[in-house]
Amino acid sequence: MQVADTPVVRRPIAILPDSLINKIAAGEVVERPASVIKELVENSIDAGATRISVVIENGGRTMMRVTDNGCGMADADARLAFARHATSKIGDVGDLFSIQTLGFRGEALASVAGVSHATLITRRPADSGGIRLEASESVVGEPTPCAAAVGTTIEVRDLFYCVPARRKFLRSDSTEFGHIHDMVLRSALAFPEIAFTLEHNGRKVLELPPTADAAERIAAALDKDLRGRLMAIDHEGDTARVTGFIGLPEVARGTNRHQFIFLNGRYIRDRSMLHAMKEAYRGLIDPHQHPVGIIYVHMDPAAFDVNVHPQKIEVRFRDANTPFRLVLGALRQKLLQTDLTRPAVIATRQDDGGVSPVRPSAPAQPNSLDETRQVLAEFFRQPPIEPQPALPIHRMENNAANSTGAAGAVHPLTARPAEKISTAPDGDGPAERASPQTPLRPMTKFVQLHNRYIAAEDDQGIVLIDQHALHERILYEELLGRVRGGPLESQRLLLPVIVEANERQTSNLDRVRPTLEKIGIEINRFDAQSLAVQGLPPLLARLDAYAFIRSLLDYLDEADRTIGDEELLHEILDMASCKAAIKAGDALTTAEIEALLVRREEIDRSSNCPHGRPTTIRLNFAQLEKQFKRR
Ligand code: ADP
Ligand code: MG
Repeated sequence: MQVADTPVVRRPIAILPDSLINKIAAGEVVERPASVIKELVENSIDAGATRISVVIENGGRTMMRVTDNGCGMADADARLAFARHATSKIGDVGDLFSIQTLGFRGEALASVAGVSHATLITRRPADSGGIRLEASESVVGEPTPCAAAVGTTIEVRDLFYCVPARRKFLRSDSTEFGHIHDMVLRSALAFPEIAFTLEHNGRKVLELPPTADAAERIAAALDKDLRGRLMAIDHEGDTARVTGFIGLPEVARGTNRHQFIFLNGRYIRDRSMLHAMKEAYRGLIDPHQHPVGIIYVHMDPAAFDVNVHPQKIEVRFRDANTPFRLVLGALRQKLLQTDLTRPAVIATRQDDGGVSPVRPSAPAQPNSLDETRQVLAEFFRQPPIEPQPALPIHRMENNAANSTGAAGAVHPLTARPAEKISTAPDGDGPAERASPQTPLRPMTKFVQLHNRYIAAEDDQGIVLIDQHALHERILYEELLGRVRGGPLESQRLLLPVIVEANERQTSNLDRVRPTLEKIGIEINRFDAQSLAVQGLPPLLARLDAYAFIRSLLDYLDEADRTIGDEELLHEILDMASCKAAIKAGDALTTAEIEALLVRREEIDRSSNCPHGRPTTIRLNFAQLEKQFKRR
C-alpha cells in the first residue's frame, strides 16, 4: 500500500563511497564497544600473541586500547589492514571452508576505523623500529616510524563520533564495560596459555597469568569458588572431540552466565548445545538452575560454516543433530561415572574457639546442621549393626517379578531387577552404553535413625542418606530403564482406586494415556465424574495411586500444551516415584535397608533425587578428624 503523503523518491543507482560502505558494515560488525574489543583481541590471538592487554576508558566510549606481543605487521600490510576485505587469513574459496583463524572476513578494522579515530602501532620481531598509522572515517594516513615494542597496539577513540544514532543507543559506562569484560573472559577461557589483563579507568579488573591448566584459568577468570569443584571431560565422538570442564551439581547457578561453548577456539552461542548441557544435568540440579560448563568442541572446519553471522557467534552445522548428541553424550558419560555425593557442610568455628551458638528454642529443621549433629551423636551411641549376610536380597528375573500374583505380594524394596539398568538413550556411542559406575562394595554397616535417615559407613567416612529421596531416585531410574526397553507389564488391582475428575481433566488425561500405558499404569473412565486406576506395574506396588492421579491432574491442568513427550515422561516418572517411594517416618527392616544400599550402588545418579536434591551427604575422614580436633 502506498502512503499518499510520501511519494517514493528514487535516486539513480550509484556505487557508494568507501566511507559510507564502512559505516554500513560497521552496523553489522560494531554494535557496541565490546564488539571492537572482540575483533581486536581476536586479531591479537590470530597474530600468535602470548600476552594481550586491554585498557578501557569510560566503558569504551572514549578510549579502548589493545596491545599484543604478536607477529606485528610490515609497512605495506599496515597500510592495507584498514582497507575493506583486506585479510592475510584466507586466499581462496577453499580456505573459506577450512578456517583455522578467528578472523577471515577482512572487514573488522575497516569497520572500526569507519566509525572512530583509530591508531595503529606495530613492529615485527625482525624490525629495528615500529611504525605508526592513523585511520579515521576510512581515511588512512601515511605510516611514520616510531619507537615500539614487538607486537601491535591498536587504539580506538571516540567510537561512533560520526554516527550519532549509534551513540544514542549506547548504555551506561558500567553496562558497556560489563560487555567488554564478558568478551575478554570468553577469549581468556578459550586460550588459557595466553596472559590477559583488563583495565578500566585506571583500575585493574582482570589479571590472568598464562597457564597450561584450563581449570586453573576457569577458576581464576570466573570464580575462585569453582576450584576443585570442576570435573574434566574428554569425549571422542564420531565427528568431533569434546573436552572441557563441568561443575559439580552443587555449584549450579541461577543464571546461565557460567556456560561457555567454544568451537575450535571460537566462542559460540548454540541453542542445542546449551540445551544438551541442561539435559545432561536433569535430575541432578534443581530444574530452575543452570549447570556450570566450559566446553571446547574440536571439529573438522569442513563440518560447519562460521560465515553465517557477521559477528561469527552463531555457526551452522552440516548435520544439525550433531551438536546436541555430542554435548549430551560427553556430559552424561562424565556425570554417570562420577561419585556426586555431596560433602557435608560444617559450620566454621568462631575466633573464641566455640561453635556458633545454637538457639535452644529453634524448631528442629529437617536436614539442619543441628539435626545432623544429633543424628551423628546417636549413631555413635548405638552399637553398630553387624553385617547380616544371612538375610538374602531377593534377586528375581524380570519375568518372575512380572508374573508375581497380587501387586502387594513382593515387597518392592526387595524385588530388584536382575540386570543393571542403563539409561543411555538410543544412538549414543559405545562409551555411553558401558556400565558407567564401577559397582562399589555396598555398605554393610548401617542404622536407620528417626525412621527417616540411614547412617552408614563407606570407605571415605560416614554417609547420611535421606531414605525417601534415595528410594525415589531408585524407582525413577528403574522405571526409566524399563520403559526404554519396552512397555511395562501392568498388574490388575483387586480393587480399583477411584479418583474424581471433571470432563476437562479426563480429556487432559487422554493426552498422556499412551505414556501411562508405557509405564504400566492403567487408568480408565469410571463414570461421568470419576476415573479408575485399574492396573499398576509391580515396581510401583506401593504407589499411592490416589495421590499420584491427583497430582498428575493438577500438573496437566497447568502444563504447557506444547510440552514434549520426553519431558512429560520424566514428569510422570518423577511423580510416580515420589508417590511410591518409602516415606520419612517409615520404619525399615534390615533387609530393606540393605536392599536400598545395594541398589544405590547400581543405579545412575544416586547422589540426587529426581528433583535434584541430594539423597546423600558425606562426612569424610578429614572433616571428622577436624571436628573432633584430632588435627
Ligand atoms: P581479518 O581478521 O578478518 O583478517 P581484520 O580487519 O580484523 O580482518 O584485520 C585485517 C588484517 O590486519 C588481518 O588479516 C591481519 O593481517 C592484520 N592484523 C590485524 N590486527 C593485527 C594484529 N594485532 N597483529 C598482526 N596483524 C594484524
Ligand atoms: Mg579480525
